[in-house]
Amino acid sequence: MKRPYIEIDLNKIAHNASKLKEIWGEAGIDVMGITKVNLGEPHIAQTLVDSGITLLGDSRIEDIIRMKKAGIDANFCLIRTPFLSDIKRVVRYTDISLNTEFRVIKALNKEAIKQQKRHKVILMVEMGDRREGILPGDLHNEVKRILELPNIELEGIGANFACFGGIKPNQEKMSYLSLLTDTIEQQFGTKLSVISGGNSANFIWLQEGGRPGRVNNVRLGESIFLGVETLYRHPIEGLHQDAFKIVAEVIEVKRKPSLPTGELALNAFGETPNFEDRGIIPRAILGLGREDVAIDGLTPQIDVDILGGSSDHMILDAKQSGLKVGDTVTFLPNYSALLAAMTSPFVHKKFMTSSCNL
Ligand SMILES: *Cc1c(COP(=O)(O)O)cnc(C)c1O
Repeated sequence: MKRPYIEIDLNKIAHNASKLKEIWGEAGIDVMGITKVNLGEPHIAQTLVDSGITLLGDSRIEDIIRMKKAGIDANFCLIRTPFLSDIKRVVRYTDISLNTEFRVIKALNKEAIKQQKRHKVILMVEMGDRREGILPGDLHNEVKRILELPNIELEGIGANFACFGGIKPNQEKMSYLSLLTDTIEQQFGTKLSVISGGNSANFIWLQEGGRPGRVNNVRLGESIFLGVETLYRHPIEGLHQDAFKIVAEVIEVKRKPSLPTGELALNAFGETPNFEDRGIIPRAILGLGREDVAIDGLTPQIDVDILGGSSDHMILDAKQSGLKVGDTVTFLPNYSALLAAMTSPFVHKKFMTSSCNL
């Protein structure tokens, strides 16, 4: 396999996906699998579908088109409010979209009429995290106008947490979302089918005995792929944290002083570097850089320290590892490193299926 590469263990992903589906399912909550971190990579999407997740969400219409063209048999939800400039593709390729702007929903309706389709929308409610969402006080008026649109179905409401504002999805927020659901249903004599309570950050709420009320859906990405909840990035018991591994090759090893010599200015990224004096150390350079991954988001699987990196190089204190030119070093990525690695054309994608021992 050409290096660097990312090794993707489809069995571990399948295990995490079915386990999470089971855990959430016990509380009456269905899982929407969020594929954006993998750019809708079809092997991974198929693995989610095979694990029983039949509704896939992605923030990029291009990813959804990629999955559909690869023949992934699922329902697709666009989870970022559609661009007014891209309504045609949203109606053509998705079944549902998350929305917050009436102008956009009106345009979806107009296009759906043209395409002789019905398009489902989930209205996102702003519940404190201060990213997308309709303010609860404006919900009544928005719902009223939306229900008048002939080719739009109001599928439900949802909220997002722990993204922009870092606000926890707790029982108070979930109960409030349930109350909003009941209120809309009573006021308009309509039934909302999807109440989407959040993302991987909702795990602790559930685990601590969360009462779902009307909440019957969560949108999960990171907890499926990395096996962690996302308030504190704690591992979820019984899940794999190593479904993805990044492997890079050593291209130089030399003993060098740990401190640079000469006049200090800004580095390649406009930062003033700061170095710890470790004396003379074995320094290994890997052929892996910021053009491939988020260096800060990698955890090496052997005892070495990451000293930093530039576009194309990562510098390690090789310590007692005995690393030689041509050796490989394996890292576990966090979500940002995974996102970057899946996005970089320089990181080759290697699929494997381990025998699962959890
Ligand atoms: C990315 C995203 C998610 C998934 O979040 P995870 O933390 O990966 O579970 C859910 N909802 C929306 C709107 C998103 O953009």
